Amino acid sequence: MCSVGGPMDVELAERLKGKKYRCNDCGTTFEAVGRHPVCPSCQSENVTLV
Ligand SMILES: [Zn+2]
Repeated sequence: MCSVGGPMDVELAERLKGKKYRCNDCGTTFEAVGRHPVCPSCQSENVTLV
């Protein structure tokens, strides 16, 4: 029998969300994954982990 995967899907989604960053150029806060986050608003790489 297969188990129902509702709560597990939520956990997986949380893990894929990445970390929160704030752009130092325009102040936009966003979530990004990977080692080189880029601001979605101005494409700046000058961001800080928040
Ligand atoms: Zn920006």
